[in-house]
Amino acid sequence: MEVGALSVQLRAEQVPDLPLPASPAFDPRAARRDFPILNQTVHGKPLIWLDNAATTQKPQAVIDRLARFYAEENSNIHRAAHALAARATDAYEEAREKARRFVGAADTGEIVFVRGATEAINLVAKAWGRQHIREGDEIVVTWLEHHANIVPWQQLCAETGARLRVVPVDEDGQIRLDEYARLLNPRTRLVSLTLVSNALGTVTPAAEMVAMARSAGAVTLVDGAQAVSHMPVNVQALGCDFFVLSGHKMFGPTGIGLLYGRREVLEGMQPWQGGGNMITDVTFEKTVYQPAPMRFEAGTGNIADAVGLGAAIDYLERIGMPVIAAYEHSLLEYATAGLSTVPGLRLIGTAREKAGVLSFVLDGCRTEEVGRALDREGIAVRSGHHCAQPILRRFGVESTVRPSLAFYNTCEDLDALTAALHRIRHTLVRRGH
Ligand code: PLP
Repeated sequence: MEVGALSVQLRAEQVPDLPLPASPAFDPRAARRDFPILNQTVHGKPLIWLDNAATTQKPQAVIDRLARFYAEENSNIHRAAHALAARATDAYEEAREKARRFVGAADTGEIVFVRGATEAINLVAKAWGRQHIREGDEIVVTWLEHHANIVPWQQLCAETGARLRVVPVDEDGQIRLDEYARLLNPRTRLVSLTLVSNALGTVTPAAEMVAMARSAGAVTLVDGAQAVSHMPVNVQALGCDFFVLSGHKMFGPTGIGLLYGRREVLEGMQPWQGGGNMITDVTFEKTVYQPAPMRFEAGTGNIADAVGLGAAIDYLERIGMPVIAAYEHSLLEYATAGLSTVPGLRLIGTAREKAGVLSFVLDGCRTEEVGRALDREGIAVRSGHHCAQPILRRFGVESTVRPSLAFYNTCEDLDALTAALHRIRHTLVRRGH
C-alpha cells in the first residue's frame, strides 16, 4: 500500500462549508513531535498510540501550561483578595472563554466546568431531570450510546417512573431516522444522543435529530466526548440545549470537562451540589445561589486542569479543526482499506459518516488476545466492550478490538497495525485462540 499517498498538503478549499483553517498545511509528523510521550519504545518497539478514543496524549504546550500554573499562579479562585488569587482566577476564566469559543456558545455563562462528560450528563440528569421529568414522561437515547449516556437516564427513570426509549440503528450502525421520528411524541421530554459513537465511530445526524426533537417539544443533550478531537463543533449550529465533553479526550488533562447549557435552560435549573463557591448568601434559614455557571461549580474546582484544557484548545485552534477533520478523514479511509486486507477481519460499524474509530473482530481470535499481541508490537489499542455494551450486542459481539485515531497518527502507524494483524492472526489461528 502506498504510504506516501496521504502525505498530502490539505488545502482550505478542500474542506467545504467550514471556516478557513489557521494553517493551510498539515504535517502529522511535525504534530507528533509536540507529544513527548509518543517518543518512546514499548516492549522494545516504537510506541504507536491508537487508543485515542479512550484518552488522547498531551502536547508539550499543555504540560508546560500546567507546570506554569503550579509554579507561578496557583491559588484558590474567586475568594481571596491577593495577587495569586487574581492570577489564578484570570487563568481559569480565560479558559472558560476559550471553551466558549471552541464550542461556539454565545456566552461564558453557558459554560460549566465539570470533571468530564460523565459528570456533565449526571449533572443534567440530577439537576434538570429531577426538576422536569415525571412519571409517564419519555427520555430518548440511541442504541449507540456510551454507558455514561444510558445509566444516568435509567436511574432517573427508576426514580421518577419515566420511560427510556431507544432509537435503533441499521446494519451499518447508522441511526434509523424513520424509527426515531416514530418514537418522538408529546410525552418525549428529553433526547440525549452522541455525536460520534465511541464503539463504532458513527457520526450521527445530530443537528437534524435535535431539530426533530425540538419540534416535538423535547429538550436535547448532545454528547460530544468523541467528536471534539476530530471535527469542528458549534453548539448553536447543532441547536442543542446541552452539550458535554471531556478534556482528556481532546489533548487536555484528565479530571476536567465541560457542560454547555443554553442560557434559558441553565438559568431555570436548580444546583445539584451545594457548598462553597456556588452561593451569594447563606443563613441557617436560607441560601441564595449564584447565577450560572457558578451555581453548578460547588467547592474548589479543578482549576489547574481547566487552565490546561484552555491550552489544549489553543493548541487545536493553532492547527485548525477543519484541517484535522480533513486529514483524519483520509487517515480513516486509509486504515479501513488496510484492515480490509486482513483475512477473517470483520469491521463492526460501517456507517457512511464515521470519525476516528475502527472496531473489529478477528475470526478465530479472542479480542483480549489480539490486544495483548498488538501491545507486544508496541501498538496500543483497546479491546473490550468500550463501555457501550448495548451497541456491541446489537452486532452480536461482547467485545471488539478498537484502534482509534488522532491527528498525530500517520499512514506508517496504520501500515504497522495492518502488518501486525496479518502476523497475529496467523499465529493465533495456528495456536487455536
Ligand atoms: N461519552 C462518550 C461517547 C464516550 O466515549 C465517553 C468515554 O469514553 C464518555 C461519554 C465518558 O467520558 P468520561 O469517562 O471522560 O467522563
